[in-house]
Amino acid sequence: KLSDRLGGVFDKLRGRGALKEEDVRAAMREVRIALLEADVALPVVRDFVEKVTEQAVGQSVLKSITPGQQVVKIVNDGLADMLGAEVSGLELAVTPPAIIMMVGLQGSGKTTTTAKIAKRLKDKENKKVMMASLDVNRPAAQEQLAVLGQQISATTLPIVEGQQPVEIAKRALQAAKLQGFDVLMLDTAGRLHVDQQLMDEMKAVADVSKPQETLLVVDALTGQDAVNVASNFSEQVDLSGVVLTRMDGDARGGAALSMRAVTGKPIKFVGVGEKIDALEEFHPERVAGRILGMGDVVSLVEKAAQVVDKEESEALAEKMAKGQFDLNDLRSQLRQMTKMGGLGALASMMPGMKKAKAAMAGGAMDDKVLLRMDAIIGSMTKQERVRPGLLNAKRKVRVAKGSGTTVQDVNKLLKMHQEMSKAMKKIKKMGGMKGLMSMFG
Ligand code: GDP
Ligand code: MG
Repeated sequence: KLSDRLGGVFDKLRGRGALKEEDVRAAMREVRIALLEADVALPVVRDFVEKVTEQAVGQSVLKSITPGQQVVKIVNDGLADMLGAEVSGLELAVTPPAIIMMVGLQGSGKTTTTAKIAKRLKDKENKKVMMASLDVNRPAAQEQLAVLGQQISATTLPIVEGQQPVEIAKRALQAAKLQGFDVLMLDTAGRLHVDQQLMDEMKAVADVSKPQETLLVVDALTGQDAVNVASNFSEQVDLSGVVLTRMDGDARGGAALSMRAVTGKPIKFVGVGEKIDALEEFHPERVAGRILGMGDVVSLVEKAAQVVDKEESEALAEKMAKGQFDLNDLRSQLRQMTKMGGLGALASMMPGMKKAKAAMAGGAMDDKVLLRMDAIIGSMTKQERVRPGLLNAKRKVRVAKGSGTTVQDVNKLLKMHQEMSKAMKKIKKMGGMKGLMSMFG
Protein backbone atom coordinates (compact mmCIF):
# COMPACT_ATOMS: atom_id res chain seq x y z
CA LYS A 1 0.00 0.00 0.00
CA LEU A 2 1.12 3.48 -0.78
CA SER A 3 0.69 4.63 2.79
CA ASP A 4 3.05 1.92 4.04
CA ARG A 5 5.66 2.78 1.46
CA LEU A 6 5.39 6.43 2.31
CA GLY A 7 5.57 5.57 5.99
CA GLY A 8 8.97 4.04 5.36
CA VAL A 9 10.17 7.09 3.54
CA PHE A 10 8.99 9.44 6.24
CA ASP A 11 9.64 7.58 9.47
CA LYS A 12 12.92 9.32 9.99
CA LEU A 13 11.24 12.65 9.53
CA ARG A 14 8.63 12.14 12.23
CA GLY A 15 8.38 14.95 14.71
CA ARG A 16 10.31 17.45 12.69
CA GLY A 17 8.89 20.64 11.23
CA ALA A 18 8.71 21.13 7.50
CA LEU A 19 8.78 18.78 4.53
CA LYS A 20 12.22 18.79 2.91
CA GLU A 21 12.80 18.55 -0.80
CA GLU A 22 14.79 15.29 -0.72
CA ASP A 23 12.13 13.62 1.42
CA VAL A 24 9.33 14.87 -0.75
CA ARG A 25 11.14 13.63 -3.85
CA ALA A 26 11.57 10.21 -2.26
CA ALA A 27 7.85 10.15 -1.45
CA MET A 28 6.98 11.26 -4.95
CA ARG A 29 8.77 8.26 -6.40
CA GLU A 30 6.23 6.12 -4.56
CA VAL A 31 3.36 8.35 -5.65
CA ARG A 32 4.58 8.03 -9.22
CA ILE A 33 4.42 4.25 -9.02
CA ALA A 34 0.95 4.40 -7.49
CA LEU A 35 -0.28 6.64 -10.29
CA LEU A 36 1.17 4.41 -12.98
CA GLU A 37 -0.44 1.40 -11.30
CA ALA A 38 -3.73 3.26 -11.45
CA ASP A 39 -3.19 3.64 -15.21
CA VAL A 40 -2.57 7.34 -15.32
CA ALA A 41 -0.72 8.09 -18.56
CA LEU A 42 3.01 8.66 -18.23
CA PRO A 43 3.28 12.27 -19.43
CA VAL A 44 0.42 13.20 -17.14
CA VAL A 45 2.13 11.51 -14.20
CA ARG A 46 5.31 13.41 -14.92
CA ASP A 47 3.64 16.83 -14.98
CA PHE A 48 1.60 16.08 -11.93
CA VAL A 49 4.49 14.88 -9.78
CA GLU A 50 6.51 17.95 -10.69
CA LYS A 51 3.70 20.29 -9.75
CA VAL A 52 2.88 18.63 -6.45
CA THR A 53 6.53 18.37 -5.41
CA GLU A 54 6.79 22.11 -5.74
CA GLN A 55 3.71 22.57 -3.56
CA ALA A 56 4.77 20.14 -0.87
CA VAL A 57 8.35 21.21 -0.20
CA GLY A 58 8.51 23.46 2.83
CA GLN A 59 5.04 22.76 4.18
CA SER A 60 4.85 22.15 7.92
CA VAL A 61 3.43 18.90 9.18
CA LEU A 62 0.18 18.92 11.15
CA LYS A 63 0.51 17.87 14.76
CA SER A 64 -1.57 14.71 14.86
CA ILE A 65 -0.50 13.07 11.60
CA THR A 66 2.72 11.78 10.11
CA PRO A 67 4.65 13.47 7.32
CA GLY A 68 3.77 10.57 5.04
CA GLN A 69 0.09 11.15 5.66
CA GLN A 70 0.51 14.83 5.09
CA VAL A 71 2.11 14.19 1.71
CA VAL A 72 -0.74 11.90 0.79
CA LYS A 73 -3.15 14.69 1.60
CA ILE A 74 -1.22 17.15 -0.52
CA VAL A 75 -1.10 14.66 -3.38
CA ASN A 76 -4.78 13.97 -2.97
CA ASP A 77 -5.68 17.65 -3.07
CA GLY A 78 -3.52 18.07 -6.14
CA LEU A 79 -5.37 15.21 -7.80
CA ALA A 80 -8.78 16.56 -6.90
CA ASP A 81 -7.71 19.97 -8.16
CA MET A 82 -6.57 18.55 -11.44
CA LEU A 83 -9.71 16.47 -11.81
CA GLY A 84 -11.83 19.60 -11.53
CA ALA A 85 -13.06 21.41 -8.49
CA GLU A 86 -16.65 20.26 -8.49
CA VAL A 87 -19.45 18.25 -10.03
CA SER A 88 -20.10 19.45 -13.55
CA GLY A 89 -23.43 18.83 -15.27
CA LEU A 90 -24.82 19.20 -18.78
CA GLU A 91 -25.33 22.67 -20.23
CA LEU A 92 -28.57 22.46 -22.13
CA ALA A 93 -30.03 25.94 -21.69
CA VAL A 94 -30.78 26.77 -25.33
CA THR A 95 -33.83 27.04 -27.51
CA PRO A 96 -34.86 23.40 -27.85
CA PRO A 97 -33.86 20.98 -29.05
CA ALA A 98 -30.50 20.94 -27.25
CA ILE A 99 -28.15 18.61 -29.07
CA ILE A 100 -25.88 16.12 -27.34
CA MET A 101 -23.39 14.31 -29.55
CA MET A 102 -21.67 11.20 -28.27
CA VAL A 103 -18.26 10.30 -29.69
CA GLY A 104 -15.61 7.70 -28.91
CA LEU A 105 -14.08 4.42 -29.93
CA GLN A 106 -16.18 1.36 -30.68
CA GLY A 107 -17.14 -0.53 -27.59
CA SER A 108 -16.40 2.38 -25.26
CA GLY A 109 -20.05 2.48 -24.22
CA LYS A 110 -21.49 5.26 -26.38
CA THR A 111 -24.82 3.63 -27.15
CA THR A 112 -25.39 2.44 -23.61
CA THR A 113 -24.43 5.85 -22.22
CA THR A 114 -26.72 7.60 -24.69
CA ALA A 115 -29.65 5.69 -23.24
CA LYS A 116 -28.43 6.22 -19.67
CA ILE A 117 -28.25 9.99 -20.12
CA ALA A 118 -31.61 10.05 -21.92
CA LYS A 119 -33.21 8.24 -19.01
CA ARG A 120 -31.64 10.57 -16.52
CA LEU A 121 -32.85 13.65 -18.37
CA LYS A 122 -36.34 12.18 -18.60
CA ASP A 123 -36.59 11.07 -14.99
CA LYS A 124 -34.71 13.79 -13.17
CA GLU A 125 -35.31 16.83 -15.36
CA ASN A 126 -38.54 15.93 -17.00
CA LYS A 127 -37.14 16.45 -20.50
CA LYS A 128 -38.62 15.12 -23.68
CA VAL A 129 -35.72 13.27 -25.25
CA MET A 130 -35.20 11.83 -28.72
CA MET A 131 -32.30 9.53 -29.55
CA ALA A 132 -30.86 8.84 -32.99
CA SER A 133 -28.18 6.34 -33.96
CA LEU A 134 -25.80 7.48 -36.68
CA ASP A 135 -23.92 4.20 -36.63
CA VAL A 136 -24.30 2.78 -40.11
CA ASN A 137 -21.15 0.69 -39.93
CA ARG A 138 -22.07 -1.90 -37.41
CA PRO A 139 -24.98 -4.11 -38.34
CA ALA A 140 -27.82 -3.82 -35.84
CA ALA A 141 -26.31 -0.76 -34.14
CA GLN A 142 -29.42 1.29 -34.88
CA GLU A 143 -31.64 -1.52 -33.63
CA GLN A 144 -29.61 -1.67 -30.42
CA LEU A 145 -30.52 1.93 -29.67
CA ALA A 146 -34.16 1.34 -30.61
CA VAL A 147 -34.37 -1.52 -28.12
CA LEU A 148 -32.86 0.63 -25.39
CA GLY A 149 -35.32 3.39 -26.32
CA GLN A 150 -38.22 1.01 -25.74
CA GLN A 151 -36.78 -0.03 -22.41
CA ILE A 152 -36.72 3.51 -21.11
CA SER A 153 -39.77 4.72 -23.06
CA ALA A 154 -37.81 7.29 -25.00
CA THR A 155 -38.39 8.03 -28.67
CA THR A 156 -35.80 6.90 -31.19
CA LEU A 157 -35.64 8.25 -34.70
CA PRO A 158 -37.25 5.72 -37.09
CA ILE A 159 -34.63 3.80 -39.06
CA VAL A 160 -34.33 4.47 -42.80
CA GLU A 161 -32.12 1.96 -44.58
CA GLY A 162 -29.23 3.25 -46.64
CA GLN A 163 -28.95 6.75 -45.17
CA GLN A 164 -25.55 8.19 -44.29
CA PRO A 165 -24.75 9.73 -40.87
CA VAL A 166 -25.04 13.37 -41.96
CA GLU A 167 -28.42 12.71 -43.60
CA ILE A 168 -29.64 10.91 -40.49
CA ALA A 169 -28.46 13.80 -38.32
CA LYS A 170 -30.37 16.31 -40.47
CA ARG A 171 -33.48 14.19 -40.39
CA ALA A 172 -33.19 13.80 -36.61
CA LEU A 173 -32.80 17.53 -36.15
CA GLN A 174 -35.89 18.27 -38.18
CA ALA A 175 -37.95 15.62 -36.43
CA ALA A 176 -36.88 16.82 -32.98
CA LYS A 177 -37.76 20.39 -33.87
CA LEU A 178 -41.11 19.57 -35.41
CA GLN A 179 -42.14 17.27 -32.61
CA GLY A 180 -41.06 19.61 -29.84
CA PHE A 181 -38.33 17.56 -28.21
CA ASP A 182 -36.20 19.27 -25.54
CA VAL A 183 -33.12 17.21 -26.20
CA LEU A 184 -31.78 15.30 -29.18
CA MET A 185 -29.05 12.77 -28.56
CA LEU A 186 -26.85 11.72 -31.46
CA ASP A 187 -25.08 8.41 -31.00
CA THR A 188 -22.23 8.32 -33.52
CA ALA A 189 -20.34 5.37 -34.94
CA GLY A 190 -17.10 4.23 -33.40
CA ARG A 191 -14.06 2.49 -34.82
CA LEU A 192 -11.68 0.16 -33.14
CA HIS A 193 -8.93 2.70 -33.58
CA VAL A 194 -8.88 6.38 -34.26
CA ASP A 195 -9.04 6.85 -38.03
CA GLN A 196 -9.54 9.80 -40.30
CA GLN A 197 -12.72 8.64 -42.00
CA LEU A 198 -14.44 8.38 -38.65
CA MET A 199 -13.13 11.77 -37.64
CA ASP A 200 -14.33 13.42 -40.87
CA GLU A 201 -17.75 11.87 -40.47
CA MET A 202 -17.92 13.08 -36.89
CA LYS A 203 -16.91 16.62 -37.88
CA ALA A 204 -19.51 16.69 -40.65
CA VAL A 205 -22.20 15.67 -38.16
CA ALA A 206 -21.03 18.33 -35.72
CA ASP A 207 -21.18 20.93 -38.50
CA VAL A 208 -24.80 20.24 -39.35
CA SER A 209 -26.05 19.71 -35.80
CA LYS A 210 -23.99 22.25 -33.82
CA PRO A 211 -24.19 20.31 -30.56
CA GLN A 212 -24.32 22.05 -27.17
CA GLU A 213 -22.61 19.07 -25.64
CA THR A 214 -20.07 16.87 -27.35
CA LEU A 215 -19.21 14.09 -24.94
CA LEU A 216 -16.21 11.85 -25.41
CA VAL A 217 -17.01 8.40 -24.05
CA VAL A 218 -13.96 6.54 -22.79
CA ASP A 219 -13.58 3.14 -21.20
CA ALA A 220 -11.91 3.62 -17.82
CA LEU A 221 -9.96 0.45 -18.44
CA THR A 222 -8.15 2.14 -21.32
CA GLY A 223 -4.67 2.37 -19.89
CA GLN A 224 -1.80 4.34 -21.33
CA ASP A 225 -3.62 4.69 -24.64
CA ALA A 226 -6.21 7.01 -23.06
CA VAL A 227 -4.03 10.01 -23.78
CA ASN A 228 -3.90 9.26 -27.52
CA VAL A 229 -7.65 8.76 -27.69
CA ALA A 230 -8.30 11.99 -25.84
CA SER A 231 -5.88 14.12 -27.81
CA ASN A 232 -7.02 12.73 -31.16
CA PHE A 233 -10.66 13.43 -30.49
CA SER A 234 -10.16 16.81 -28.91
CA GLU A 235 -8.05 17.96 -31.84
CA GLN A 236 -10.86 17.13 -34.25
CA VAL A 237 -13.99 18.29 -32.45
CA ASP A 238 -14.80 20.79 -29.79
CA LEU A 239 -15.42 18.51 -26.82
CA SER A 240 -17.49 19.79 -23.91
CA GLY A 241 -16.89 16.92 -21.55
CA VAL A 242 -15.97 13.32 -20.97
CA VAL A 243 -17.91 10.27 -19.80
CA LEU A 244 -15.85 7.53 -18.20
CA THR A 245 -17.45 4.09 -18.48
CA ARG A 246 -16.73 0.80 -16.69
CA MET A 247 -15.83 2.47 -13.43
CA ASP A 248 -17.65 -0.44 -11.79
CA GLY A 249 -14.84 -2.81 -12.69
CA ASP A 250 -11.24 -2.98 -11.60
CA ALA A 251 -10.47 0.42 -13.01
CA ARG A 252 -8.69 2.59 -10.50
CA GLY A 253 -9.71 5.63 -12.46
CA GLY A 254 -6.35 6.79 -13.70
CA ALA A 255 -7.89 7.43 -17.10
CA ALA A 256 -9.93 10.20 -15.46
CA LEU A 257 -6.79 12.13 -14.69
CA SER A 258 -5.34 11.57 -18.15
CA MET A 259 -8.57 12.67 -19.82
CA ARG A 260 -8.84 15.78 -17.80
CA ALA A 261 -5.20 16.69 -18.31
CA VAL A 262 -5.27 16.19 -22.07
CA THR A 263 -8.70 17.60 -22.98
CA GLY A 264 -8.95 20.21 -20.24
CA LYS A 265 -12.66 19.34 -20.14
CA PRO A 266 -14.64 18.17 -17.14
CA ILE A 267 -15.67 14.59 -16.65
CA LYS A 268 -19.44 14.85 -16.52
CA PHE A 269 -20.54 11.31 -15.76
CA VAL A 270 -19.20 7.90 -14.92
CA GLY A 271 -20.74 4.63 -16.00
CA VAL A 272 -20.85 2.06 -13.22
CA GLY A 273 -22.53 -0.93 -14.81
CA GLU A 274 -24.42 -2.31 -17.76
CA LYS A 275 -27.87 -1.42 -16.42
CA ILE A 276 -29.52 1.72 -17.74
CA ASP A 277 -29.52 3.50 -14.41
CA ALA A 278 -25.86 2.71 -13.72
CA LEU A 279 -24.73 6.28 -14.37
CA GLU A 280 -23.39 8.64 -11.75
CA GLU A 281 -22.17 12.18 -11.49
CA PHE A 282 -18.43 12.51 -11.35
CA HIS A 283 -17.07 13.37 -7.89
CA PRO A 284 -13.43 14.45 -8.24
CA GLU A 285 -12.50 13.91 -4.60
CA ARG A 286 -13.85 10.36 -4.58
CA VAL A 287 -11.95 9.44 -7.70
CA ALA A 288 -8.82 11.07 -6.35
CA GLY A 289 -9.06 8.79 -3.32
CA ARG A 290 -9.60 5.82 -5.57
CA ILE A 291 -6.62 6.58 -7.79
CA LEU A 292 -4.33 6.74 -4.78
CA GLY A 293 -6.21 3.96 -3.05
CA MET A 294 -6.15 5.80 0.24
CA GLY A 295 -9.32 7.67 0.99
CA ASP A 296 -8.94 6.72 4.66
CA VAL A 297 -5.74 8.67 5.14
CA VAL A 298 -7.23 11.64 3.40
CA SER A 299 -10.21 11.85 5.69
CA LEU A 300 -7.95 11.43 8.71
CA VAL A 301 -5.91 14.43 7.68
CA GLU A 302 -9.04 16.39 6.96
CA LYS A 303 -10.30 15.66 10.44
CA ALA A 304 -7.02 16.76 12.02
CA ALA A 305 -7.26 20.04 10.19
CA GLN A 306 -10.90 20.48 11.18
CA VAL A 307 -10.32 19.94 14.90
CA VAL A 308 -7.69 22.65 15.03
CA ASP A 309 -9.87 24.93 13.02
CA LYS A 310 -12.96 24.32 15.13
CA GLU A 311 -11.30 24.91 18.50
CA GLU A 312 -9.75 28.05 17.20
CA SER A 313 -12.90 29.52 15.74
CA GLU A 314 -14.92 28.73 18.85
CA ALA A 315 -12.46 30.56 21.08
CA LEU A 316 -12.44 33.45 18.70
CA ALA A 317 -16.21 33.57 18.54
CA GLU A 318 -16.32 33.85 22.33
CA LYS A 319 -13.89 36.77 22.32
CA MET A 320 -15.82 38.50 19.66
CA ALA A 321 -19.05 38.10 21.50
CA LYS A 322 -17.43 40.19 24.23
CA GLY A 323 -16.20 42.71 21.69
CA GLN A 324 -12.54 42.00 22.49
CA PHE A 325 -9.80 41.03 20.10
CA ASP A 326 -6.39 41.99 21.45
CA LEU A 327 -2.86 41.33 20.30
CA ASN A 328 -2.78 38.06 22.27
CA ASP A 329 -5.59 36.82 20.06
CA LEU A 330 -3.84 38.02 16.97
CA ARG A 331 -0.76 36.16 18.09
CA SER A 332 -2.57 32.91 18.66
CA GLN A 333 -4.14 33.29 15.25
CA LEU A 334 -0.72 33.69 13.71
CA ARG A 335 0.60 30.67 15.59
CA GLN A 336 -2.34 28.65 14.47
CA MET A 337 -1.51 29.45 10.90
CA THR A 338 2.15 28.58 11.34
CA LYS A 339 1.37 25.34 13.12
CA MET A 340 -0.93 24.24 10.37
CA GLY A 341 1.73 24.63 7.76
CA GLY A 342 1.69 28.33 7.05
CA LEU A 343 -0.53 30.21 4.71
CA GLY A 344 0.25 27.94 1.80
CA ALA A 345 -0.85 24.82 3.59
CA LEU A 346 -3.94 26.50 4.94
CA ALA A 347 -4.91 27.69 1.53
CA SER A 348 -4.61 24.24 0.05
CA MET A 349 -6.38 22.61 2.96
CA MET A 350 -9.47 24.69 3.52
CA PRO A 351 -11.76 25.92 0.78
CA GLY A 352 -12.53 29.28 2.34
CA MET A 353 -8.89 30.09 2.91
CA LYS A 354 -8.10 30.38 -0.76
CA LYS A 355 -10.05 33.60 -0.93
CA ALA A 356 -8.64 34.89 2.32
CA LYS A 357 -5.10 34.32 1.18
CA ALA A 358 -5.66 36.04 -2.13
CA ALA A 359 -7.09 38.98 -0.21
CA MET A 360 -3.93 39.29 1.85
CA ALA A 361 -2.01 41.53 -0.52
CA GLY A 362 -1.52 38.93 -3.21
CA GLY A 363 0.59 36.54 -1.22
CA ALA A 364 2.89 39.25 0.13
CA MET A 365 2.12 37.87 3.55
CA ASP A 366 4.27 34.79 3.50
CA ASP A 367 5.28 32.54 6.33
CA LYS A 368 8.30 34.64 7.28
CA VAL A 369 5.95 37.52 7.89
CA LEU A 370 3.97 35.35 10.26
CA LEU A 371 7.06 34.62 12.33
CA ARG A 372 8.11 38.26 12.35
CA MET A 373 4.73 39.38 13.60
CA ASP A 374 4.83 36.74 16.28
CA ALA A 375 8.20 38.10 17.42
CA ILE A 376 6.90 41.66 17.53
CA ILE A 377 4.01 40.74 19.78
CA GLY A 378 6.44 38.67 21.88
CA SER A 379 8.45 41.81 22.62
CA MET A 380 5.50 43.68 24.02
CA THR A 381 4.52 43.84 27.66
CA LYS A 382 1.34 42.15 28.87
CA GLN A 383 -0.40 45.47 29.14
CA GLU A 384 0.61 46.54 25.66
CA ARG A 385 -0.82 43.38 24.19
CA VAL A 386 -4.18 43.97 25.79
CA ARG A 387 -4.18 47.72 25.17
CA PRO A 388 -2.23 48.44 21.98
CA GLY A 389 -3.10 52.14 22.39
CA LEU A 390 -0.30 52.32 24.97
CA LEU A 391 2.29 51.91 22.25
CA ASN A 392 3.70 55.38 21.76
CA ALA A 393 6.74 56.19 19.62
CA LYS A 394 9.22 55.36 22.36
CA ARG A 395 7.64 52.02 23.17
CA LYS A 396 7.51 51.14 19.48
CA VAL A 397 11.27 51.65 19.17
CA ARG A 398 11.77 49.31 22.12
CA VAL A 399 9.52 46.65 20.65
CA ALA A 400 11.19 46.89 17.25
CA LYS A 401 14.63 46.47 18.79
CA GLY A 402 13.49 43.59 20.96
CA SER A 403 12.06 41.71 18.00
CA GLY A 404 14.79 42.54 15.52
CA THR A 405 12.37 44.44 13.30
CA THR A 406 11.69 48.07 12.45
CA VAL A 407 9.19 50.59 13.78
CA GLN A 408 7.59 50.38 10.37
CA ASP A 409 7.00 46.66 10.88
CA VAL A 410 5.49 47.35 14.29
CA ASN A 411 3.17 49.93 12.75
CA LYS A 412 2.13 47.51 10.04
CA LEU A 413 1.19 44.95 12.63
CA LEU A 414 -0.81 47.43 14.67
CA LYS A 415 -2.59 48.58 11.55
CA MET A 416 -3.44 45.02 10.69
CA HIS A 417 -4.79 44.41 14.18
CA GLN A 418 -6.93 47.54 13.89
CA GLU A 419 -8.31 46.42 10.57
CA MET A 420 -9.11 43.00 11.94
CA SER A 421 -10.85 44.43 14.99
CA LYS A 422 -12.88 46.70 12.80
CA ALA A 423 -13.83 43.84 10.53
CA MET A 424 -14.88 41.79 13.52
CA LYS A 425 -17.09 44.50 14.90
CA LYS A 426 -18.77 44.64 11.54
CA ILE A 427 -19.21 40.89 11.54
CA LYS A 428 -20.74 41.07 14.99
CA LYS A 429 -23.32 43.51 13.69
CA MET A 430 -24.05 41.23 10.77
CA GLY A 431 -24.99 38.35 13.04
CA GLY A 432 -21.75 37.14 14.53
CA MET A 433 -19.57 34.18 13.74
CA LYS A 434 -22.44 32.17 12.37
CA GLY A 435 -22.98 34.75 9.69
CA LEU A 436 -19.31 34.72 8.82
CA MET A 437 -19.13 30.95 8.69
CA SER A 438 -22.10 30.77 6.39
CA MET A 439 -20.31 33.13 4.04
CA PHE A 440 -17.45 30.72 3.75
CA GLY A 441 -19.83 27.82 3.25
P1 GDP B 1 -20.41 1.55 -28.19
O1 GDP B 1 -19.81 0.68 -29.22
O2 GDP B 1 -19.46 2.65 -27.82
O3 GDP B 1 -21.74 2.06 -28.55
O4 GDP B 1 -20.54 0.67 -26.86
P2 GDP B 1 -21.86 0.01 -26.23
O5 GDP B 1 -22.71 1.04 -25.62
O6 GDP B 1 -22.50 -0.89 -27.24
O7 GDP B 1 -21.23 -0.83 -25.03
C1 GDP B 1 -20.34 -1.89 -25.21
C2 GDP B 1 -20.46 -2.84 -24.02
O8 GDP B 1 -20.02 -2.21 -22.85
C3 GDP B 1 -21.88 -3.29 -23.74
O9 GDP B 1 -21.87 -4.65 -23.43
C4 GDP B 1 -22.29 -2.48 -22.54
O10 GDP B 1 -23.24 -3.15 -21.74
C5 GDP B 1 -20.99 -2.33 -21.81
N1 GDP B 1 -20.93 -1.14 -20.96
C6 GDP B 1 -21.19 0.15 -21.29
N2 GDP B 1 -21.02 0.98 -20.24
C7 GDP B 1 -20.65 0.18 -19.19
C8 GDP B 1 -20.33 0.44 -17.80
O11 GDP B 1 -20.33 1.58 -17.31
N3 GDP B 1 -20.00 -0.64 -17.04
C9 GDP B 1 -19.98 -1.91 -17.57
N4 GDP B 1 -19.65 -2.90 -16.75
N5 GDP B 1 -20.27 -2.18 -18.84
C10 GDP B 1 -20.61 -1.16 -19.66
MG1 MG C 1 -22.77 1.97 -30.36
